Amino acid sequence: MGEDERRLPSADRASERDPLIRIEGVSKRYPAGANGEPVAALSDVNLGVASGSVLGVIGRSGAGKSTLIRLLNGLEKPTEGRVVVDGAEVSSLDERRLRDVRRRIGMVFQHFNLLASRTASGNVALPLEIAGVPRAAIRAQVAELLDLVGLADKRDRYPAELSGGQKQRVGIARALATGPKVLLSDEATSALDPETTRAILDLLARINRDLGLTIVLITHEMSVIRAIADQVAVLEHGRIVEGGAVFDVFTRPQTEITRALLAGEMGLRLPPSLAERLRPEAGPGTATVLRITFRGEHATDPIVARLAREMGIEANILSGTVDEIGGQPFGSLIVALPPGPDVAARASAFLSARDLAVDPVGYLAPAIGRSRHVA
Ligand code: ADP
Repeated sequence: MGEDERRLPSADRASERDPLIRIEGVSKRYPAGANGEPVAALSDVNLGVASGSVLGVIGRSGAGKSTLIRLLNGLEKPTEGRVVVDGAEVSSLDERRLRDVRRRIGMVFQHFNLLASRTASGNVALPLEIAGVPRAAIRAQVAELLDLVGLADKRDRYPAELSGGQKQRVGIARALATGPKVLLSDEATSALDPETTRAILDLLARINRDLGLTIVLITHEMSVIRAIADQVAVLEHGRIVEGGAVFDVFTRPQTEITRALLAGEMGLRLPPSLAERLRPEAGPGTATVLRITFRGEHATDPIVARLAREMGIEANILSGTVDEIGGQPFGSLIVALPPGPDVAARASAFLSARDLAVDPVGYLAPAIGRSRHVA
C-alpha cells in the first residue's frame, strides 16, 4: 500500500468494501451562526464505517462533530451530499420513515438525558413502550439490558440516586433497547472521572465485540480514541484533515492539529530536570530535540548508533519508551542533537528515509553551569 493511499481521509479501507455507514460529499451550512453570519459546519466530508468497527471522530470545540452526529441520526439534513446508514438514506427520508431508521441507531449522550421521574428500568423501558412492545416482553428485555450493563441491582433507583457512571450505564442500556445496529456516542465520557471513563469505554468495547454493534463516537480526547476506536477521523473547521487506522495516526500524525491533540496522550515523559530546560524556540547553545517513533520491524534498529556511524551525528538519548496501541507495539526515543549547521535537517532526512517518524519536540537549553548541550 502506497503512502498516499494509506493517507486517504476516508477512515477505513475495509469500510470501502462493506460500509454500514456512508457519508458521501457531505456539507452542512447553517444560515445563521452565533454572530448571525452563515456557518460552514461541515465541508465535503467523506467517510465509510465498516460493519462492526468503531470509528472515533475527534476535533476541537466547533470542529463540526455534533453536526456530524446529528446528520447520522437524521436530526439535520445535509446541505449537500448523502448520508446512508444500514442501507437507509437518512439524508432524504421523511420524519415517519426516519423514526423506523432511528430504531436501528442507538444514541448515548454526554449528560445522559435520563428522565428524572423514571427509575433506571423506566428509562430503559421508554423506547420499548414507544415502539409498542407488550408489557411482559418489556419487563424481560429491560431486566436483560440492565444485567448487560451491570446494573441489575439498581433497577428501581431514580437518576438522582445514581452516580454519573451508573447513569451512563442506564443511558447505554436504553440506547440498546431497540436492538440497534449502530451506536452513536456524543462525548459519552466527557462528564465522567478517568476511572469511570475507563469502565464505560470498556463496556462500549464489550458491546462492540459481543453484540457486533458498529460504533461512531465523537470526542475531544485522544485517550478515548486510543481506548476503543479502530479508525479515527480528525475534524478541523468542518473538514476531515486526517484519518485512518488509530495506530497509524497515533504513530505518524500528518497534521499540526493531530499532533496538538496527541500532545497529552503521546506525552514526552522527559525527566523533570530535562523538561524544564525544553524551549519552544532555538536560542544560544540550545540543542534540537527530536522524537523518533519506531514501528514494527524498525522497533529494534540501533538507529542512534547508525546516525553516529553513517552521518557522524552524535545524538544524546534523553528518554525512551515502548508502548502499544490496539496490541501493536511502538517505541519512542527522544534525542538531543549536537549543535551545528544543518544537523537537524540531515538527521531528520536520514531517519525519515529509514521509514521512521520524526517530530521536532523543541530545543534544550544548556544546563546551568555547563557550556555544552550535553544532557
Ligand atoms: P463541535 O461539536 O465539534 O463542537 P458543532 O457541530 O457543534 O461542533 O458546530 C460546528 C459549527 O457550527 C460551529 O461553528 C457552531 O457554532 C455551528 N453550529 C452548530 N449548530 C448550529 C446551529 N444549529 N445553528 C447555527 N450554527 C450552528
